[in-house]
Amino acid sequence: MSGDTGKPNFKGRRLFLGAAAALPATSVLGAKPPHGQPSVPPSAKSVLDTKHSACDAQRGKHKFDADVIVIGAGFAGVTAARELGVEGNKVILLEASTRLGGRTYSGHFAGQNVEYGGAWVHWAEPHVWAEVERYGHGVEEEQIANVDRALVMLPDGRVKELTTEQLDAYDKDGMDKFTAGARELFPRPYEPLTNPKVRELENISAADHIAKLGLNEVQTAILNAEMTLYGAGPISEYSYLAFVKCFSCMSWDYYTFNDADRRYRIGKGGTLGLLKSMIQHSKAEVRFSSAVNQVRQERDHVIVTTEDGRKVTARAVVVTVPTNTYKRIQFIPALSPAKRKYIDQGEMSNGAKVFVQLEKNYGNTFAFCADPNPLTVVQTIKNSDEVGTILSITPGRRKLIDINDADEVEKQVQRLFPNAKLVGLSGYDWANDPYSQQAWGAYRVGQMSLAQELAVPEGRVFLAGASTAGGLNEYIDGAVESGLRAGRQVRELFSRSPA
Ligand code: FAD
Repeated sequence: MSGDTGKPNFKGRRLFLGAAAALPATSVLGAKPPHGQPSVPPSAKSVLDTKHSACDAQRGKHKFDADVIVIGAGFAGVTAARELGVEGNKVILLEASTRLGGRTYSGHFAGQNVEYGGAWVHWAEPHVWAEVERYGHGVEEEQIANVDRALVMLPDGRVKELTTEQLDAYDKDGMDKFTAGARELFPRPYEPLTNPKVRELENISAADHIAKLGLNEVQTAILNAEMTLYGAGPISEYSYLAFVKCFSCMSWDYYTFNDADRRYRIGKGGTLGLLKSMIQHSKAEVRFSSAVNQVRQERDHVIVTTEDGRKVTARAVVVTVPTNTYKRIQFIPALSPAKRKYIDQGEMSNGAKVFVQLEKNYGNTFAFCADPNPLTVVQTIKNSDEVGTILSITPGRRKLIDINDADEVEKQVQRLFPNAKLVGLSGYDWANDPYSQQAWGAYRVGQMSLAQELAVPEGRVFLAGASTAGGLNEYIDGAVESGLRAGRQVRELFSRSPA
């Protein structure tokens, strides 16, 4: 699916697309698929089927449209809206697109529930797990625990078949070496600068670090693919410590880290189901098709302007847009120099997600593809003689492949599954979506300490979003963490200066 038009755009030939099911989540509270195709006029206000009586009663008391404006309806924005809304604040949530979710996107493909963006969660991710528990969504398990075929593609394209035990042993040994000393480096990973050594080492790239480990070619290829995945870009640009910090958040443990990253999806409606539970609880008013282009701060309030010229006022604003989209918003006064520097550098984050259906049943396979091979990580999500094989593919560098070109994707898949015939394809190109312009947020070398500045409030302007998280900045958990923190910061402001 092409991110900028919201319409499928498969080059080459016609495929079974799982019909409309190939389109991610086409009906979010009455909205149609993503950016560029609003189902409501840009000025229309989409109010969820929540009760607004408490907020309405308060509205007259305030001289502004709301107590708080939240910009962006991903996990960070929805968490912040919920935190502040349940306390009786009037919250208006402005979302550029026509759906909840941001870089999460629940949908269906070839009869399966799939996530086109952020998917996997775990109880070692405390913030998102608390939300899963609070609303009783539970998890669905992938079939990765029962893989029967393990493949590693080396940088030159040769494919090595391993036993699953070999893959585990190679991966664990490489990861253990890569993350050696993690506990000392990040004794409190949610406060990553606790150990001053972090600042000294933050210019080391993942590629530099791998080169020092003395691994064999298969292990090197596995680590290369792992780092290409997490860095979502060339590993020479990805900060070695960025990965070690995320690893440390999972109790410095290889097995926990692996389970957290590929094994459990949110149950009951997936990410969208959980977001709906949270937003309904929040009682926030959600306005879709409301892309913000200016945030102006006055002495006792903020004025937020959308691209269609509408203005909304409030006592505070929480901005949760992805780092690479900040340049679309003018801040008056300007954000601090440190924040601007981080935003100007931008995050790497060129990943994508693609689902394919192969005609035949190739078993339950897991594959790492080292850079510059474009598929990066391939995992079977379903295989049977009835459906054939359905693969979830996470290319770390979507620039290396056109995920809408069925012939090109099939050619790459055939390098792992010779002669395989592609019968279905659906994906989402996050870097081409104007309101994300990136996938998960990965620090470049040297960015870790600068990133910590993002969470520092500027008067009535509060920045949230996964990239501002102390802990799992590449994850849904980081988004939730940041929404909780921004909620607390706004609460502190309100208690210092009551309305
Ligand atoms: P977003 O979800 O990006 O929300 C920001 C919102 O702001 C968007 O809805 C956007 O439309 C809106 N917006 C942007 N600009 C404007 C504007 N000017 N005005 C108004 N609104 C605006 N995490 C995991 O934990 N597990 C995974 O398995 C995982 N896999 C991933 C796979 C992919 C392909 C991707 C893309 C991400 C993955 N992640 C994963 C990361 C995770 O999805 C993100 O970290 C998280 O969802 C970010 O949430 P957020 O609220 O910070 O930002």
